Order: sequence, then structure tokens, then C-alpha cells
Amino acid sequence: MAKVLCVLYDDPVDGYPSSYARDGVPRIDRYPGGQTTPSPSALDFTPGELLGSVSGALGLRRFLESAGHELVVTSDKEGPDSVFERELPDAEVVISQPFWPAYLTAERIAKAPELKLAITAGIGSDHVDLSAAIDHGITVAEVTYSNSVSVSEHVVMMILSLVRNYLPAHQWVLDGGWNIADCVSRSYDLEAMDVGTVAAGRIGTAVLRRLKPFDVRLHYTDRHRLPPEVEEELGVTYHPDVGSMVRVCDVVTINCPLHPETENMFDDALIGRMKRGAYLINTARGKICDRDAVVRALESGRLAGYAGDVWFPQPAPRDHPWRTMPHHGMTPHTSGTSLSAQARYAAGTREILECFFAGKPIRDEYLIVEGGKLAGTGRHSYSAR
Ligand code: NDP
Repeated sequence: MAKVLCVLYDDPVDGYPSSYARDGVPRIDRYPGGQTTPSPSALDFTPGELLGSVSGALGLRRFLESAGHELVVTSDKEGPDSVFERELPDAEVVISQPFWPAYLTAERIAKAPELKLAITAGIGSDHVDLSAAIDHGITVAEVTYSNSVSVSEHVVMMILSLVRNYLPAHQWVLDGGWNIADCVSRSYDLEAMDVGTVAAGRIGTAVLRRLKPFDVRLHYTDRHRLPPEVEEELGVTYHPDVGSMVRVCDVVTINCPLHPETENMFDDALIGRMKRGAYLINTARGKICDRDAVVRALESGRLAGYAGDVWFPQPAPRDHPWRTMPHHGMTPHTSGTSLSAQARYAAGTREILECFFAGKPIRDEYLIVEGGKLAGTGRHSYSAR
């Protein structure tokens, strides 16, 4: 019987919810493009419940314990005395979410000789040292597509809120004011702006589709080009490299994975090539942007706004400069963990576990590393050191 070690974010400060704002979430059977949503043999939760926090346990407790496995769930993940580090040496499976990542570094992997499977409940496995996973024959899997549309909705929200100056205007209301000139002196229409995405994968393409009705000019750069009929349908211009794209864009949204090619991509030099007053939205990974270069660009006016939900490290320390820099619209890492998304990635996590314990193949689209090499989605979208 296996030990499954699951690292999740803390319950709400007022305790695990006993009721919810809505009575459920709409059911989705297929994602755009036709991939089916997760299909485990059963579910032990009601979609719409909080599953990503410790008490929610991704809805896995009954399933695992009734099969005789041990399930350890904790939010305590940092440092040598953390529950995560203490429980790791005999764990066979580690599960964590990018929102509250259990960083599986090469050092930690070396201390986990039993580890066979690392599941990302969500998308983005950069918190796992993929080269070390390859060397140790560990399978890395994530629930591809489970929250791609969730993130794309967040991106559109953040673009509009920055361009239209929503958050400062809302703050005037909370403060009892009616300061229209203060609200609108940084407020514009998105219409007719040039908007570009770094990467047109699942999220990037969903962002392009959602922005098209705003009558903007769309741009993208990616390692692989979209099919010509999709480019034509979206009216999107391809750029062979990020530098040539950012030069012409008023808004840039980052939607590529974090891997050696993309780490620190938005540094002083690249941000310096953006239009003065451009907006940058990053819901991909914090480390794709140079932390201090972003702060400098907001202070100098090179960027008119920066928003996103991804930081490094996570949770971000209280003195992280992105909390206090000007003209930002940051949230904690929440875009991919709406209650709707949780229902899908919890089901996908169970599907992956069912395959693993039954010795059946895990869906190719969920695989990042398998058999000592990048596999499935990992082979397409990631690179290893
Ligand atoms: P996909 O795998 O569908 O798409 C990723 C795309 O990035 C692929 O088209 C890939 O290119 C492209 N890409 C990789 N490297 C580069 C590069 N150097 N330059 C340009 N494009 C590149 O992933 P998703 O769209 O589902 O997710 C993207 C990322 O978003 C995740 O890896 C994760 O980091 C982040 N994410 C954030 C969430 C949140 O809550 N904030 C939730 C979910 C994901 P190709 O394959 O064509 O080579």
C-alpha cells in the first residue's frame, strides 16, 4: 500500500465553508478542441465544494483510505522541519498545486527513494525539478486543460481592469469619494489596441478567442505556429520572436510555461523594447519576469500597469516589492483554482491515481515526464536542463 503525500493551501481563516455562494457549477464534458474532461470511476465530492485546501483534500480521502493507502495532507511545506520534508522520504506519490507549490528540488528528490509519481493538481510542473525527475525515473503528470479557460478569463479581467483603471476607481468608492477625474486620468478603451500573447497554447489561444470581440488587433509568438485556418479565423499576426512582438503591442499577456528558455524572459532589455505605457499581464509564472525590472518599469512609466497572480516564491513574502509597486493589479495565485477549476483538476488527479494504482497508462496529454524523458504534453511544451 502506498503513502500519498498531498500539499494543499490552508483552509479559509474563518474555517472550512459550510455553505457556498452558488448551488453548483455548470458541467463541462469536453474542452475546446475535443479533449474530454477527467473521467475517474467515481467522485467522492460535489463539484463546487472547496477541494484545494487542506480539509477539502482534493476529495481523495475516502478513495485512497478505503483502498488501504495512507493519505497525508499538509500545508506545511517549507524548510527541513516542515511536515512535507519529514513525510517525504517514504512517500510514493506527491501531489501539490501550483498555487501552493511543494517545491520538489533535486535535493528533495534525492531524499525520496520511494517516490514514483508527482502529480500537479492543475497545470504547470515547474515546481518539480524535471531533470532530477528524469534522472530518478519519476513520472510527472498534470491535469492538462483543467483550468486553462479559468486562467484565460482571469487574463481578460486583468487586461480590462488595468486599461480601464478599475481597481483605483473602486478604491475611491470604498474611500467614500466621487473623484471622477482621479479615476479617469489613467483610463482608456481597449478597442483598437494591439494585444499580443507570448505563447498560443491552450490558455493563450483561449485568451485570443475571448479578446477577438473587443475589436483589438491580435498578435502572438510561439515555438510552433498555429494552423493557418486558426490564424485567419482569429485575424492574429504571428511574430517569429518575442522582441518583434512586444515592440508593436499596447498589451502583452504571458501564457508560456516556465522552463529554461523562458526564465527571466521579461528583463530590462525586453521591457525596454515595449511601447511606453504598455500593460503587461503575467498569469504564467513569476520567474518569467525579472522581479525588479518590473518594479523599475512601473516607476519610470515604461509600463502603465502590471497584473497577474504568479509570484516567486509562493506564498510571496510580506515585503515582496510587487505588493507595493505602483499601478499593479496583483492577486495571490488564484486564477486557476476557482471552485469550477478545482472540480476538474481534483477529478483529474483521481483519474491519474486510478491509472497509477491499476498499472494502466496515464493519458498522454497528462504526462510531463515518464520513463526517464519528457513525455506527452511535456515533450511538446517544456525543455529540460
Ligand atoms: P500549453 O502547454 O497548452 O501551452 C504552452 C505554450 O507555450 C505552447 O504552445 C508552447 O509552445 C509555448 N511555449 C513554450 N516555450 C515557449 C517560448 N520559449 N516562447 C513562446 N512560446 C513558448 O499550456 P497552457 O496554455 O495550458 O498553460 C501555460 C502555462 O500557464 C502553464 O505552463 C502554467 O505555467 C501557466 N498556468 C497558470 C495557471 C494559474 O493559475 N495562474 C493555471 C494553469 C497554467 P509549443 O508547445 O508550440 O512548443
